[in-house]
Amino acid sequence: MPGTRKHKKSGQKNRHGHTVGSSSDRRCGADALKDGGRPEEGNEAPRDKEEQDIEAGDNLPYVIKTSDVMGRYLVASCDLRPGQLIMSVHPLVVGPPQGCQPLCLGCYKKLDLDDNAYRCEGCGWPMCSQGCSGRGREYGHSGAECQLYERVRPKLLAADSNALTPLYLVVVPLRCLLLQQHDPDKWHSLLTMEAHNDIRQKLPVIWRNNQENVVDRIRKEWGMTQYEEDLIHTICGILEVNAFEVGQEGVSIRALYPCAFYMAHDCVPNTGHTDDKNFQLRVRATTKINKGSSIYLSYAYTLQGTLKRRDHLKESKFFDCTCARCSDATELGTYAGALKCPQCAMGIVVSTAPLNRDADWCCTNDSCTGYTVPARSVRLLMDKIGDEVEALDESSIPTLEAFLTRYQNVLHPNHYHCLGVQHSLCQLYGKAPGFLINDMTEAQLRHKRDLCRQLLKVVDVLEPGYSRLRGVLLYELHAPLMILTTRGVEAHALAYRDLRSRLKEVAACLEESSIILNFEPETSNEGMMGRAAKDALMRVREWQRIITNS
Ligand SMILES: [Zn+2]
Ligand SMILES: [Zn+2]
Ligand SMILES: [Zn+2]
Ligand SMILES: [Zn+2]
Repeated sequence: MPGTRKHKKSGQKNRHGHTVGSSSDRRCGADALKDGGRPEEGNEAPRDKEEQDIEAGDNLPYVIKTSDVMGRYLVASCDLRPGQLIMSVHPLVVGPPQGCQPLCLGCYKKLDLDDNAYRCEGCGWPMCSQGCSGRGREYGHSGAECQLYERVRPKLLAADSNALTPLYLVVVPLRCLLLQQHDPDKWHSLLTMEAHNDIRQKLPVIWRNNQENVVDRIRKEWGMTQYEEDLIHTICGILEVNAFEVGQEGVSIRALYPCAFYMAHDCVPNTGHTDDKNFQLRVRATTKINKGSSIYLSYAYTLQGTLKRRDHLKESKFFDCTCARCSDATELGTYAGALKCPQCAMGIVVSTAPLNRDADWCCTNDSCTGYTVPARSVRLLMDKIGDEVEALDESSIPTLEAFLTRYQNVLHPNHYHCLGVQHSLCQLYGKAPGFLINDMTEAQLRHKRDLCRQLLKVVDVLEPGYSRLRGVLLYELHAPLMILTTRGVEAHALAYRDLRSRLKEVAACLEESSIILNFEPETSNEGMMGRAAKDALMRVREWQRIITNS
């Protein structure tokens, strides 16, 4: 389920559990683009002036402010335009995410430990190979780390896959603690982060889990008593509150970044961010941000309802969100959490007081006889439907369509469970076997077009501007528009004026999509999609030129 895992300030999971940098599926478009070839390694564009300035600390587009309510937060120091780079930072520390399966401590590739996997000679941790690219590297398996584990080498060597899995929980906390000795600047930067020990101490599950799996392992089992118990708990808290989930090309890791952790949360973010294969994080404005306005990111999955998002933020980030979206029962008119009334035909059921997690939900139709349901029941129903969504075959168009039909009288069409399924369908139509774009019927093409448009209407509100999600949806939208236009021309069924306006619409989709996806790493699926959008845009422009001149 999206939003149920902790430790993901930025990392958000889509409904099928893939960790994603924002809210689009990193795999989307891969099938369509796999013939396009990958760019050569190391063939990255030269850094532009904007990035050089920011890395040098010149003309920073933000300032850090402090308030009693928000703590420290970032504010725009000048008017920011959509797409403008706000920060570009290297991590303080990176490492395996919570609850990961065995992976290489150098390069974070997943490991299959059954077949006599390679173990580091120095410390006994499994690694991909002796020549791992991350060996001896700051953001991989460093010499200091290897040395630290020397004493527990026999224990690590004796541990099989099952016994090793929980041991990965100590890797990042110990990497943080190593900074104290090996990189005092980074250590001080790390200690400025919020740990919320006072709140976390009162949450027995979280505290006990850290005590057993991290504190006692480090101090009692492994005898590393140089690290104080309180300090280890603080590090655990800093990671829970501030870590980003990042990673490229199938690798999933967590990382702490300087400055980025100051960004406050809002359920409608005005920034987006990417990370590259060197774990460098780049934060950009997605919308216009006026000088003096707050710079936000969302710690929760944006395509989720308020009840779910606020529960997640409370449980894993330890605060009650009171943003404009959370305060509005309609979620800014999107109805992303709304139900349909079982008592009247037109009624929509929303919370009577969205900032109170226990408030009743009511039908908003004035002519309804009155339908009320307790929040507890809504939560149970959402979890039940959520489990059902999770179990759906994500590659089957008929299965996903059947889900939407099954719940059309229960969920608002913009309900987040529907949005997730629609998002998958948008990407499957045109790529799934039997539904390749050129083989689709006109009705199917129009259906894909309408799905994309409907989703975009919601996303324009919840993740507005140059968000990755909009970039992907605009790219998906251009395909049916283009094929419908081509077929119209072939059938001589399109008037000249219609053709012109259709091409204009396709070009607008591709232009915005290519701008947005151009911010993505070149080798990512979105990066490749961005280049495909650019190529397609050139072809459409050529067509526009031809018809204008003919
Ligand atoms: Zn490796
Ligand atoms: Zn080692
Ligand atoms: Zn909120
Ligand atoms: Zn009603």
